[in-house]
Amino acid sequence: MKIAVASGKGGAGKTSIAASLVLGRPGSLAMDLDVEEPNLGILLGFEGGTTRPVLQPVAFLEPDLCSACGRCAQVCEFGAIAWFGSGLPVVNESLCHGCGACPLVCPTGAMRERDREVGTIRSGTAAGGPFIEGRLRVGSVSTVRVIDETIRAGTEFKAHDWIMDGPPGVSCPAATVLRAADAALMVAEPTPFGLSDLASVLEVASDLKKPTAIVVNKAGLGERPLDDLCRRFSVKVLESFPFTRSAAEAGALGRCPYGTDADWAARTGRLWRAIERTFS
Ligand code: SF4
Ligand code: SF4
Repeated sequence: MKIAVASGKGGAGKTSIAASLVLGRPGSLAMDLDVEEPNLGILLGFEGGTTRPVLQPVAFLEPDLCSACGRCAQVCEFGAIAWFGSGLPVVNESLCHGCGACPLVCPTGAMRERDREVGTIRSGTAAGGPFIEGRLRVGSVSTVRVIDETIRAGTEFKAHDWIMDGPPGVSCPAATVLRAADAALMVAEPTPFGLSDLASVLEVASDLKKPTAIVVNKAGLGERPLDDLCRRFSVKVLESFPFTRSAAEAGALGRCPYGTDADWAARTGRLWRAIERTFS
């Protein structure tokens, strides 16, 4: 089963829960798809393996062939080509999404495409199990491309269970991870901000018709009830992880509480059983 671990906001504890699920089910694939700030590998002690580039075609200009007609700039929906009414257009590669429109409309063949590295995929083993991580190149906008390629590369491991640590929020990258998963586990922080953002991400999962459940993290930090949201989206809370000093200390040291907190590990075991009951 491919489980997306998601959250409405950053800082809810999504990566700690994802790492705990990996450690609680040896052999499951740990997949870090939070490609703008991947850190699942830190919690799992990933020390390196193989690295491969993620390439994407981007537009570039052959100036000698250009007739300065401006069509390429007019067709680009991403503002990646600047043209000022005369003279040669200027391509900003870092804004190019590689949609292929400008080479298509260019009448002279001056606008072409070449591969650009937009990120990397690192893979190997972490905590004794398979691990893969997508990492966006600084300055690149091709987040979804890196996520898609990482998911594709993950199939090489042939793992039965995938734990997909996705980006927080409701943007295209977050929706891409939810779409690729069999089920979504939403990590909720019971605070006003946490529940407001949880409602947004539950709405996305509902639109995608994704089987969804909630796990509460930092229980005790706030006492906002989830009952209304659970009723509204027909989801249930599978487990609750308390806001404790030992969990906070583990996080501050870049460790997963699963390895240092027996109560946390027991709750992870219960969470796995609840996941199987709910999503199987
Ligand atoms: S390939 Fe698409 S996104 Fe890139 S510059 Fe051309 S039109 Fe714009
Ligand atoms: S469409 Fe082609 S010929 Fe026209 S400005 Fe762009 S690159 Fe030059």
